[in-house]
Formats: sequence, C-alpha cells, structure tokens
Amino acid sequence: MKECLICKTSLRFIKFKCADGYVCKNCYEKASQNFSQTIKNRTKEELLKQFDTAIEVKEEAAFEISRKINQLLLFDDKNQQFCLPNHKKYTKEDLKPEIYPFSAIINCQMMEEQIEKVVKKKKQTLGCIKVVLTLDQGEKVTRAIWLIPNFINTTSMPYQTMKSLAENVVNEINQSREGILC
Ligand SMILES: [Zn+2]
Repeated sequence: MKECLICKTSLRFIKFKCADGYVCKNCYEKASQNFSQTIKNRTKEELLKQFDTAIEVKEEAAFEISRKINQLLLFDDKNQQFCLPNHKKYTKEDLKPEIYPFSAIINCQMMEEQIEKVVKKKKQTLGCIKVVLTLDQGEKVTRAIWLIPNFINTTSMPYQTMKSLAENVVNEINQSREGILC
C-alpha cells in the first residue's frame, strides 16, 4: 500500500499527487495552504518547507499576550513562553519573530559600551546599550536587543530612557525564568 510522503500514514482512496509521490489529506491541507494551491509539480522538499511555515503560523496563533514591553518583548504567562518580535530596528539582523519557552532562558543581561569623545571642544561620554539573551535550544543561541545601537551622549534623555527600558527587559525576563524555577 502507498504511504504519505510526509507523515507516512497509509493511503487508501483519498490521496494527492505531488512530484515525488502521494500525500494524505491532512498533509495536503497544510502543504497547500488550506487547499488553495495545487501541489502536483512540487517536490517533497518544497512541500516540507510549506509545511513548516504552516506549523509556525499555528504556533504563533497559540500565543496569548499577557504582558509586553513596547515592541521589544511579548510574554505569554499562561503558556510560559515569550516572543521576540525581532523588529529590524532593534536586532541589526534580519530575523523573523521567534517564540521561546521561559525554560529556555539561560541568561539575560544589559550591556553598555562607553567611549570618551570630544564633541564641540567638550569631552563627552558616549554609549550604546543592548540586552543580550542566551537561550538553550539544544545548543546555545544568543539574541541581542539593541536599544541604543549607535553611540550617543550618555547624559541625554533618550539614553536614560532606553537604559531604564533595558533594565526592565532584564528584570521581566529574569522574573519569568525564576517563576518556573520555584
Ligand atoms: Zn500525511
């Protein structure tokens, strides 16, 4: 008997042909974006890619926001997970939104870098700020949230604001982590 290319259930009457073989109705539904696309000419690899996206979307839908810090972090206390929206403005890299369980948090800290610079004949201290998260995903993953990505005057209002925001992020992350420890 033929089996589904993706989930390996055996196929009887209802099956859908793709370039490499047949898939079952369940897998077809996911791979075809709810029956909106044909899969006849797609390879197994292409279907699996589509499949992953479908599952990702489902997981995101299961995210219930109970707390959030601006556009930086979303928390789902009910399901013990948080989301990094990864807005380009804060990441310096091109990342999709990511969801991690609280239990994946290994470490979270604020990092400041400061330099002295003479601006308009006056010595100034300039700084930048990021929050670095270390996560356990089988291997260690680090993510940086850049609150002040470019050096600015450390006595300026934006710097002070972002610094307390960074402290907030660290606190809330650590509280979430401790919540599951005790
Ligand atoms: Zn299947």
